[in-house]
Amino acid sequence: MCGIFGVRGVQDAGALVHLGLYSLQHRGQESAGIVAVDDDGQARAVRSMGLVSEGLGATETAKLSGMLAIGHTRYSTAGSSTIENAQPILARFRDGSISLAHNGNIVNATELRRELEDQGAIFSGSMDSEILVHRIARSRCERPEDKLAEALRGVEGAYCLAVTIGDTLLAARDPHGWRPLSLGTLGDGYVFASETCALDIVGATHLRDVEPGEIVIIDANGMRSVHIPERAELKRCVFEYVYFARPDSRIFDGGSVDHARRELGRQLGRECPAPTADLVFGVPDSANAAALGFAEETKLPLEFALIRNHYVGRTFIQPNQAGRVQKVKVKYNPVREVLDGKSVVMVDDSIVRGTTTRGLVALVRQAGAREVHMRISSPPVTGPCYYGIDTPSREELIGANMTIEQIADHIGVDSLGYLSRDGMLKSVPGGPHGFCHACFSGDYPTPPPTDPDKLRFGCGC
Ligand code: AMP
Repeated sequence: MCGIFGVRGVQDAGALVHLGLYSLQHRGQESAGIVAVDDDGQARAVRSMGLVSEGLGATETAKLSGMLAIGHTRYSTAGSSTIENAQPILARFRDGSISLAHNGNIVNATELRRELEDQGAIFSGSMDSEILVHRIARSRCERPEDKLAEALRGVEGAYCLAVTIGDTLLAARDPHGWRPLSLGTLGDGYVFASETCALDIVGATHLRDVEPGEIVIIDANGMRSVHIPERAELKRCVFEYVYFARPDSRIFDGGSVDHARRELGRQLGRECPAPTADLVFGVPDSANAAALGFAEETKLPLEFALIRNHYVGRTFIQPNQAGRVQKVKVKYNPVREVLDGKSVVMVDDSIVRGTTTRGLVALVRQAGAREVHMRISSPPVTGPCYYGIDTPSREELIGANMTIEQIADHIGVDSLGYLSRDGMLKSVPGGPHGFCHACFSGDYPTPPPTDPDKLRFGCGC
């Protein structure tokens, strides 16, 4: 997964992007970068591995000037985590410079890349996103939006893009609308961001979302928009509401992530109550709102039973299992005073491999919990995502390999309840139709990639 940000028409656009990226850090912690185009049309890139606060300090961002800039935070599978793959990509071609920041995953990347390689194209990284830069540069169209539209023809899968071609800023969203992308105004300028929380931090006003299949163009003449000719069924990612987006964001045409998660929790309370429990708590931070909804619905008191250390990254991306178990302890500590002798409901948004959950249940029991009832505010994850969320392969997904009873046994809980698919889809704003739920249902909107190994070409963001 990744976060993208773009600004045109505001002084010190690079500094503004820098600020915006802090609010998109949850979408990617592997690398961060900014490209700014100065008033003479010179584009400069700063990129680094790690967090925005670690790699993009004042010295780096001081190199950026001008009123046009884009930025990116990247989160992909371990292994492809190299500086060559950090974005935005910056390239020079006959008409000047192109820079590009991508959130999503191109499903037919293998075929598209092979096609370009056969024609002699060379690649510096292993990202699918680089394919788009080549395709833009090859277009013989005049206008930047026509170049981008031509480049996107035949590209399948998920993309939200922030692109600069010369001194024009463009933002595009794939026709299925998999990932969120918001458009805001700031003074006389325009701002694009993956989520509205990043518009908030820079003081921009949310105007609307970039529509599925739309290319929005910002240049010296202001804003205009064109549509990619391909029409497609709406397939917004439901996992954005369940887990990925920040609760203070409004995504997919104004849907509150906070409201969605509370409602997922309420519905979970209706479907899988835990009548004998004394209290409920959420696994911080992503399940806090769902736990609140569950508590409201079941009338159980909501407690803070797990304290999360905010100075360690997400447990998920540890390269090996031993690392992950150890990191659970580094990241969470239970509050004995809340748990001792109690029958508790532990709410989380999802179980993927089961490693973190198993470690957490053990910690909660060590802190004295008498009974642990696990409740999950989404259905079992049974398949990988090919559209930009970094779920592991089917072999590693506990929901694809064990029954619910076996999972309960494996993670060591007294009972385990998952939200139903229908319950999930009717709880999210704008539901139940128009969502991609392939990771829960196996109902993939496109044929799977011919080479699903994200370590080969995939950006995995
Ligand atoms: P596990 O028990 O190891 O499957 O981990 C479950 C935790 O991973 C839950 O708390 C989720 O919030 C979190 N999670 C779910 N999907 C992802 C993802 N794609 N990347 C990182 N963490 C995730």
